[in-house]
Amino acid sequence: MTPFRTFCKSRQEIKDDEQEIKDDEQEIKDDEQEIKDDESKNGRNKMRKTVVIAMIIGAAMLFAAPAGAFVAKTGDMADKTNRNISVDEGVLTLHGLLSEPQAGAPEEIAIRFMRENLGILNLDETILSGLRHLQTKESLTAFHVRYQQTCGGYDVIGGQISAHIRKDGVVQVVHNGIKSIVNTFEAPLVHKSAAFSIAKLAVGFAVPLGYVPQNIRPVVLPIDGGVLAWQTFVPALEPLGAWTVYIDTKLGTILGIGDMASYMEIPATLFRANPVVLSKDPNFKDNQLGINDESFDGMYTDVLVKNLDDTLVAIGMLSGPHAFIIDNIEFAVDGVTDFVCTREDPRFEGLMCYFGIDESQLYIQSFGFTDLFNKPMSIAARGLPGVQNAMCVHGGVLGLPDPFTEVLILGWHALASTMLPAEVPVAGWGGDETDGFIDTAEDPIVVLHEYGHAILGDAGFTSGGAEGGAVHEGFADWWGSICLAPYSDGLWDNYIGEWFSSYIKKSEAEGVPPALRNMVGNKTYDDMEGEVHVDGEIWSSPLWDIWMELGRENASRLVLESIHFLPASGGFEDAAFAVLQADVNLNNGENGYFLLKTFEARLFEPAIPEGLNTLPPVVDSGASAQETETKGTPGFEAVSLIGVLFAGLVALVRRRQK
Ligand SMILES: [Zn+2]
Repeated sequence: MTPFRTFCKSRQEIKDDEQEIKDDEQEIKDDEQEIKDDESKNGRNKMRKTVVIAMIIGAAMLFAAPAGAFVAKTGDMADKTNRNISVDEGVLTLHGLLSEPQAGAPEEIAIRFMRENLGILNLDETILSGLRHLQTKESLTAFHVRYQQTCGGYDVIGGQISAHIRKDGVVQVVHNGIKSIVNTFEAPLVHKSAAFSIAKLAVGFAVPLGYVPQNIRPVVLPIDGGVLAWQTFVPALEPLGAWTVYIDTKLGTILGIGDMASYMEIPATLFRANPVVLSKDPNFKDNQLGINDESFDGMYTDVLVKNLDDTLVAIGMLSGPHAFIIDNIEFAVDGVTDFVCTREDPRFEGLMCYFGIDESQLYIQSFGFTDLFNKPMSIAARGLPGVQNAMCVHGGVLGLPDPFTEVLILGWHALASTMLPAEVPVAGWGGDETDGFIDTAEDPIVVLHEYGHAILGDAGFTSGGAEGGAVHEGFADWWGSICLAPYSDGLWDNYIGEWFSSYIKKSEAEGVPPALRNMVGNKTYDDMEGEVHVDGEIWSSPLWDIWMELGRENASRLVLESIHFLPASGGFEDAAFAVLQADVNLNNGENGYFLLKTFEARLFEPAIPEGLNTLPPVVDSGASAQETETKGTPGFEAVSLIGVLFAGLVALVRRRQK
């Protein structure tokens, strides 16, 4: 039996089940109405969020079990307290003055209350001992304690219970979504990689996305007394969604499938310019290996982390349509309200990467580019312990479902953790000794530089030797800087990686920060050294000039359009031609003169696309002066006759419009 057939059969079964469920629901509604009639107050509680698919399959049981059980017990209320019961979507809610004021930690009060009310809550000691504390939140008036039900060590889907305790210790509300599990579970027979393959087939996977099959975990579905299932997540562009698929760990059959995507925004605090820029001190350094101290006060920007897949956030993962953080770090637990943290928080680097890439992709899309690396990039923000560097690996190398995706792996110091034995030396830049270390993701340009490579690769430019590599590096530097420009106050935008460089590079001159590279410079084609990053300055400097001349937005639109015109491999003059072609298409070639001068200064002689206006900007002195200047300008030999004629026509039309 193929997984597809299994899937189809399951769907039919689900349809049959749904009909039964509808019938049962009517009965349950009738029961609920009876319960509501018994209520002394009209309190109404929102349902706890549960996993939809599990609910559909298991709905008959989930709805029916508590309803009958509690009607009889509502008569056994304690004297001095006031209790109301409602059952909604499988969650039993007790509310009122459920206890006397009590002393003790909120967790103690919660567990004590449950233990004293096993009957009315339909709990037992086994369930209590299996509860896993999820979180305790303090609001203005109460503590809110949440637990996850586990069975045999496995989380039970939808099985949560929460107690809400007024600050004087009175239990006010209990939401009980604990499921009835009677089965015991053996170790999975189906391997999790097989489960992931089945899940991919079930979703269809027409357009696979970059995804590392981590966080596949065995869970208990509350159906038929409990079934052990692999819970897998398959993000896909088509069919669009973050698909959750449950696979029976014994039989490999699909127990449930559904799109869990629902995107949320969570506030966070991040570095949006690097700390050297933020301090405005070119010599600003960190002397405490990743520790936050007062020298970082005021450097954190309040941001909204957007497009987060709420289902994945609920299990601690940071994932959205543009970035997927694969670090083995719990970013959030159910009910998370903020990511406000500082640089020493283990989540900080992942948040820096996620936010930077999501914002960069939204910037790309703001121009109307909808298909330029518009998929999640997988990132290990703390992926290289003890290494201050970053690397980008093609998905094909790692055997990922999408071979065209990129996985970005960044270094971090790791010395304060137990990940490395203390005697492992810090790997400095090029093997040099270093007396300090910056977590790579703390310098926001690093992840955006790597994203620049991913964009260029996605457009189809794979590289092509030393020159193509230099185009890649130059574009990547420029892209990172242009993305971050809104946060820098214009300071040192031309320098690349000042914070990353603070221990590993010397400053070029007094008053300027140390940096990996500088986009302002006079390097030409003749200055090629054969090292792609160094030679990247030969391409980033004309891009910098274009940014300064046209402004950030126009330059971004022009250069993003241009990279689509690159060959699969090529060099500076191919890249220059592509910019000229993009200018013809977007701007009627009106920046031709400036662009050609810019490229000429680097000794590039690109082909001239038809329609480029090679004439200098219109000046008051009239047409004859322009012609003379154009003809007299060296480096314009390649201008085609048609190009000149067309450009002249455009210039004429423009002049008439004035
Ligand atoms: Zn690079």
